[in-house]
Amino acid sequence: MSSKAALPLPAQAVPGQATPVPFNRPHVTGREQAFLQEAIGNRAIGSDGRFSRLCEQQLRALTGAESVLLTSSCTAALEMAALLTGIGPGDEVILPSFTFPSTANAFLLRGARVVFADIEADTLSLDIGQVAAAITPRTRAIVAVHYGGVPCDMAALVALGRRHGIWVIEDAAQALLSSRDGRPAGSLADLAAFSFHSTKNISCGEGGALAINRPGLLGKALVLRDKGTNRQDFLAGRVEKYSWVGVGSASVLGELPAAYLHAQLLQAQEITEARRRAWQDYADALAPLAAPGRVLVPRIPAGVRHNGHCYYLLMASRAERDLLIRSLRAAGIEATTHYEPLHLAPAGRAFAGDRPLPLSESLPARLLRLPLWPGLPAGTAGRVAAVVAALPAAR
Ligand SMILES: *Cc1c(COP(=O)(O)O)cnc(C)c1O
Repeated sequence: MSSKAALPLPAQAVPGQATPVPFNRPHVTGREQAFLQEAIGNRAIGSDGRFSRLCEQQLRALTGAESVLLTSSCTAALEMAALLTGIGPGDEVILPSFTFPSTANAFLLRGARVVFADIEADTLSLDIGQVAAAITPRTRAIVAVHYGGVPCDMAALVALGRRHGIWVIEDAAQALLSSRDGRPAGSLADLAAFSFHSTKNISCGEGGALAINRPGLLGKALVLRDKGTNRQDFLAGRVEKYSWVGVGSASVLGELPAAYLHAQLLQAQEITEARRRAWQDYADALAPLAAPGRVLVPRIPAGVRHNGHCYYLLMASRAERDLLIRSLRAAGIEATTHYEPLHLAPAGRAFAGDRPLPLSESLPARLLRLPLWPGLPAGTAGRVAAVVAALPAAR
């Protein structure tokens, strides 16, 4: 099956009107139903079945991580990561404010303090100089978010982490199949969390994975994921009956979503290539319109191979951004904003600290994301470019 043949058709055109383009359209490969049928037919719907094993193998191959465990979400994977590090009250964890709440919650749930570091203007990911400045004797971890599927400079962050003897964790929710200097996201730090939420490139509705690259953690992670029991030893025939051996939760992915995910992972390269082509169409159409102080386009750092997760524009102001979103909607193209900075959110103000975060405050208000999915109607990038070009001149 060629990747082109597998792509969905564009949404139904309305006569006399340009095809409406939704922001996201979860990709379906066509094999999900057969694998679901197989799992149901085999009465193998719990966890740790054939499809879960296959997904974990596929993910090890795609990420280069030493071990990969499927989880019920990226949030669950981040929570397992926080437990594995043993971080607790009195400890500090450095992370960006420009991220999803789960990145912070995982450590707040352990009683740790989150310390927000500012982001870079051109990648919207952690500014390493700001991270270095935020390190104190209490710092126990750095969590880097690969925004838009563009991996952070993890070699520099890991070197910084090693100098201070602290954990470095990838929030790779958006970054499956992205790489930096030839090394895939998921293999770049101690631990990494992935998401298979329906808004991500590869999805099973709700799902995630934890990648582990530090020796000695896998056994503990298996217990954490399995309600604090050594059920894995039981499944492997190492014990006759399983026991409660530690703390834990129910963080495993069920076999039914794993069957769905297996189909998606079989086509992961093709899905990524289709997204990269759509991303490049935007770059080709919009980069010529980039003008400082008016429209900025993403910069991909040298050595990064991204996965086409997201194409965004940064406008001169919130007003210009909102105007462009409205103008695109009027043209049938659904663009959206992204994260509200956590330190400005109702639950985040308490953790804001006194570290200034000027870019985390100004950039999200100026950012919009464009529709991006495999099978995005041809000509979408040109339609967006026409709307951008027709915007009234900046005041
Ligand atoms: C999507 C996302 C999450 C949460 O993923 P879930 O699988 O929905 O828990 C966490 N962090 C980042 C950066 C994300 O984009």
